[in-house]
Amino acid sequence: MIILDGKIVAASVKESVKAKAALLIREHKKTPHLAAILIGTNGASETYVANKVKTCEEIGFKSTLLRFDENVKEQLLLDTIKKLNVDDEVDGILVQLPLPKHISEEKVINTINPSKDVDGFHPSSIGKLVQGLPTFIPATPYGIMLMLKHYKIDTVGKHAVVIGRSNIVGRPMSILLSQNTNPGNCTVTICHSRSKNLTEICQQADIIVAALGIPGFLKANMIKEGAVVIDVGITRVADATKKSGFSIKGDVDFENVAPKCSYITPVPGGVGLMTIGALMMNTFAAAQLKIKN
Ligand code: NAD
Repeated sequence: MIILDGKIVAASVKESVKAKAALLIREHKKTPHLAAILIGTNGASETYVANKVKTCEEIGFKSTLLRFDENVKEQLLLDTIKKLNVDDEVDGILVQLPLPKHISEEKVINTINPSKDVDGFHPSSIGKLVQGLPTFIPATPYGIMLMLKHYKIDTVGKHAVVIGRSNIVGRPMSILLSQNTNPGNCTVTICHSRSKNLTEICQQADIIVAALGIPGFLKANMIKEGAVVIDVGITRVADATKKSGFSIKGDVDFENVAPKCSYITPVPGGVGLMTIGALMMNTFAAAQLKIKN
């Protein structure tokens, strides 16, 4: 069993983006610039955004963090996005999800200029992804594809089972794995909360991507010997032994599943780190696109 090490792969992704960014700065006087919008004080969102901003610094990008109160008016948020859309200094815009209930996620995502949609959630980005056209790919599935590529995991003709059908992880993941690319070219089954016979379906999988947000959901009896298991889940579970009061749990019962796998991602230290690397690649691509245009 081989651990798919997010630290190693993300570090190499970041190094490569950093080198490309240095060239862009030198040759075109253009520093990639990510604008992040954070609403409220959700602990997990705070951590994600702080890590994104920190990574920008590490690799020589500019970043701007715009914070809003939990009760921010939807219109103010939309107006802020519109300003960022036309700000020549800004290459990529991300709005950290989830949003407070009174704000429409759909309106927020649709307001982002597709040429700055570095999270890849805009319908235009998703539409291009479905058609296999160049676009911003949602960072978590993109990061997983980079990880499969790094470890040269054979995906051609394999049966991949994706558990979870969200717009940000499960659905784009299923599209990427089914594309005529490498990695890709899998036969994909997408499962969700209404799927029947999930255990039997998972038992047939060569590759399983678990993205449902239920800690320890994927058990050893659900996988076949030699399967590749990608754990996307990140759930904070109360843990009195930790200073923070919680520990991070994935969707896979790692201890019992790992011995049966050929490859597996740990949580933490797996997909989460790749997500940030992929976001940086998208932000770099957005800056490059601006120069080309
Ligand atoms: P979501 O809540 O939007 O979607 C969960 C999906 O799981 C749904 O499609 C639902 O149908 C499915 N599901 C729920 N219960 C199920 C069950 N019993 N059997 C089969 N399917 C079931 O969640 P999301 O935004 O896609 O995130 C999923 C997990 O991934 C969460 O833990 C989240 O924190 C994590 N996540 C991690 C990263 C990362 O960078 N590692 C990024 C995004 C999300």
